[in-house]
Amino acid sequence: MQPVLSITGISKSYGSIKALKNVSFDVPEGSVFGILGPNGSGKTTMLSIILDILKADTGSFAWFGQSGSSITRRQIGSLLETPNFYHYLSAVDNLNITQAISGRGTPADIDRVLEIVKLSERKKSKFSAYSLGMKQRLAIGAALLGDPQVLVFDEPTNGLDPVGIAEIRELIKDLAKKGKTIIMASHLLDEVEKVCTHLAILKKGTLLTAGKVDEVLSNEDIVEVSSSDPDRLKMVLQNFPGASSLQQDGHMVRLFFPVGTAKLEDINRFSFEKGITLNQLTVKKKSLESKFFELTND
Ligand code: ATP
Repeated sequence: MQPVLSITGISKSYGSIKALKNVSFDVPEGSVFGILGPNGSGKTTMLSIILDILKADTGSFAWFGQSGSSITRRQIGSLLETPNFYHYLSAVDNLNITQAISGRGTPADIDRVLEIVKLSERKKSKFSAYSLGMKQRLAIGAALLGDPQVLVFDEPTNGLDPVGIAEIRELIKDLAKKGKTIIMASHLLDEVEKVCTHLAILKKGTLLTAGKVDEVLSNEDIVEVSSSDPDRLKMVLQNFPGASSLQQDGHMVRLFFPVGTAKLEDINRFSFEKGITLNQLTVKKKSLESKFFELTND
């Protein structure tokens, strides 16, 4: 399946500061894709580039297989910073203004988005009377006008209390259930683990890893093995000592090991002694701790 977004070799500097260094990854359709990294790692810069707010120095990106066009833009709703809502106007009036200015959706769309962000009952209240969490939900509502297929959020739970954070999480999960693709930046490992299906980890502008959350952040090492006869390979490796479990995925067999215990040469020898020649043998993931260590230490 064609990725919703494909990023290839993007670099961006601000003077002598290299904010992004040759970053590439794909965002699959229907994923909740977290861009995880500490402050200053380049997350906002990346989101600004894919939204055409900033221009990359080198590299390219394609939405739905096409490089930027106004047609694809209409399929993307975004929230980079809290929009300037009018404090003395209600949620409905604010969204009416946003809708008219942006041209996204129709006035009839406003009740729909208020329903999604669970503000219908408070839609007549003034913006100034809203809690921070409600303000953030309204901002997400604005991004939902026109029913875009893809949503891009920068730190959507920033500054919220635990209840507000939980509400935004639920909202993101609901949107994902509706089939939306969501790309969100976060500096919180915990948040990414809880809501995202996929993630890319940035550190000082460099991509450390990207992939499915359960593969990247697992506490196990995964060894991917393949040979010309995957069924026989699976049968043989079921008896490999030390592996905690085994999974077959098409031509690939995945062996799971407690962190640090996978020994490639042993797997290779074991298979060879059983008459199997491997054509692939790679360790796929590292532990949560080691990823976190890479993130937070130099
Ligand atoms: P945060 O979570 O703090 O927003 P981030 O991961 O989103 O961090 P960016 O905001 O993309 O990171 O910043 C990446 C690097 O580029 C940082 O070193 C930052 O100081 C620098 N930077 C960002 N914007 C500018 C700018 N307009 N001019 C100069 N340097 C900038």
